[in-house]
Amino acid sequence: MIRITDILDKVTENHPDADVDIIDRAYIFSARVHDGQMRLSGEPYLSHPLEVAGILADMKLDSVSIAAGLLHDVIEDTHATDAEIGDMFGPDVLHIVSGVTKLSKLPFNSAQAREAASIRKMLLAMADDIRVILIKLSDRLHNMRTLQFHKSEAKKKKIAKETLDIYAPIAARLGIYWIKNELENRSFQFLNPEAYEDIRLRVAKDKEHREKYVETVQEIIKKKLEENRLVSEIIGRYKNFFSIHQKMLHQNLPFEEVYDIIAFRIILDTIPQCYEALGLMHSLWRPIAKKFKDYIGMPKPNMYQSLHTTVIGPYGERIEIQIRTHEMDHVAKSGIAAHWSYKEGKVIDEDASKTFAWVQNLVENQAAFRDPNEFLENVRIDLFPDEIYVFTPQGEIKSLPKGATPIDFAYLIHTEVGEQCVGAKVNGRMVQLRYELQTGEIVEVVTSKGHHPSKDWLNFVKTVKARSRIRQWIKIQEKDRSISLGREMCEKAFRKFRLNFNTLIKSDEMQKVVDNFGFKQTEDLIASVGYGKITPLQIIRKITPRETVEDADSIFNKIIAKKKKKKEKGGVVVKGIDDILVRFGKCCQPVPGDPITGYITRGRGVTIHRTSCVNARKLNPERHIEVEWNQETTESYPVKIRVCSLDRVGLLADIATNITKSGANILSANTKTNDNQTVDSYFTLSVKSTEHLTRVVESLKHVRQVVDVKRLGVE
Ligand code: MN
Repeated sequence: MIRITDILDKVTENHPDADVDIIDRAYIFSARVHDGQMRLSGEPYLSHPLEVAGILADMKLDSVSIAAGLLHDVIEDTHATDAEIGDMFGPDVLHIVSGVTKLSKLPFNSAQAREAASIRKMLLAMADDIRVILIKLSDRLHNMRTLQFHKSEAKKKKIAKETLDIYAPIAARLGIYWIKNELENRSFQFLNPEAYEDIRLRVAKDKEHREKYVETVQEIIKKKLEENRLVSEIIGRYKNFFSIHQKMLHQNLPFEEVYDIIAFRIILDTIPQCYEALGLMHSLWRPIAKKFKDYIGMPKPNMYQSLHTTVIGPYGERIEIQIRTHEMDHVAKSGIAAHWSYKEGKVIDEDASKTFAWVQNLVENQAAFRDPNEFLENVRIDLFPDEIYVFTPQGEIKSLPKGATPIDFAYLIHTEVGEQCVGAKVNGRMVQLRYELQTGEIVEVVTSKGHHPSKDWLNFVKTVKARSRIRQWIKIQEKDRSISLGREMCEKAFRKFRLNFNTLIKSDEMQKVVDNFGFKQTEDLIASVGYGKITPLQIIRKITPRETVEDADSIFNKIIAKKKKKKEKGGVVVKGIDDILVRFGKCCQPVPGDPITGYITRGRGVTIHRTSCVNARKLNPERHIEVEWNQETTESYPVKIRVCSLDRVGLLADIATNITKSGANILSANTKTNDNQTVDSYFTLSVKSTEHLTRVVESLKHVRQVVDVKRLGVE
């Protein structure tokens, strides 16, 4: 078991000026709170955070990371609180420890392959400080090293699978290949013990022979390089068993034919030397076409650099060779950690940081950081700024665009769930439907049968699916309304001609009319009456002989004419319906600017009421229709006001002058003198908007002796 002194030695060796005090204190605290706890291995629990800290020290991380590593399980597994950690170790350590805790509590129940990519992205997105993910990887690595102590086979396999699906690819993504390899190999051992054992035995059996082979090849390479005055380090190593296994599977090869189970690595001082060495290797052995990769000229996104080539070796076998500089080798081993770790305590030079384009993207205004600590504090991951990841109550992971709401989530689950969504719980608490979901949250949709989408939802939903489904629903709804409105208009008009619409509708004549107007179904014809595109009279004309129409026609025209007079054309837009009969409720006298709502009235189009109107609220909600003011309307609308004042000579004249000066017309006026010397004057004015009305009211309030001015209409 690693001891704290070993860790402190590693840290001071890497960073002579490191703050070892914080590590010491973290160790003492961790030992105290974990006291009495045991690992499944039978060792004291403290061995686990110590091993994790040891791995972090090997990655040459800073003291804050190592302290956080020692404390990584204390919030989750002991009585220690966030506040204690913050007080004792500062906000950085707290931020990292609570980040690791947050990741541990993620509720995914299965690492199914199709979810794995989302989970990886989510982990990276949640670990907003790279050190959080590095600790999580180290934690997982040590847990894999001690996985054999788990009792349940199923649990071992589950953890191994999750490691292979989630954590090994993250390590690769961050360029920490040694962790990736070890995680893969250990997972493989538990997931497919037979295949693992088979490869292990075969490699062991051949060991002597292979070691000799490695030596021979190393000698040949060394000689060739030395002839050209190149000093190098040459390493021959077994590929990890998992990648040998993968190769056998993918290329359908027996073990004996997997030649490049040994890879050679040549490490040199400079980049030109790397290319020179590559040329020498290719002159020595024939390279295999398409197997050459120049990751020096084109580094991987995780800043990995190396030259890769595969050649036909001295015995006709394939040899994989990697060529790189010492610095590249260090980066390949520690990945992203390499960037800052060996620069701690020194001023980061801007050119060096520019080398690593990937890190550069991670760090906002990175050029502004002169102080390495400041740099570290700002090593925040923002890899997926446009996506969030949330869970269903069953632990299924769902990806949504940033800013998505519970409605988007509901539609993602199922259109029906979306349409019947009445509320949502996030992490068990009710939230508003427009709440912006955050990565890691568990979202539960509350539905109610018979509930319908609202037009308002279009103002905040983020996904295309939700938007288009809501629109579609509204459209269907409007068609239904138009049909019922059209039917009523037709029934009424047909009656005037002593025709029975409901009988005629099934007749062949009607089918001809439908065809004639170019519709497929009778329903479409009726809907278009409801939309106001066709009048019932147009249908009647086509269905009955001309003469009978003439007479009744004139009656009908009168009705139409009367209606047309009432129709305040263009003031209100009925959603999705052009050119429909619109009337305004006398009860509440809506004026542009008032919140309004529409009701389909029997045979008389749509009546507009103020939303606050008591009469409107009594109407059948089935007949409700969405309406809004036409922004371009310049019409004037009647509105009733009451002016209370103390009686005086010339009062009425003053009030009238003020109304006219404010640009409003007086349509009617009457006054009532009360016993107590006050006068109530009632005016019906025509105004252009609520704003206009407010101006009128304000000006009247300034008239001498006026006590109160009030709009009437809705009580
Ligand atoms: Mn742990």
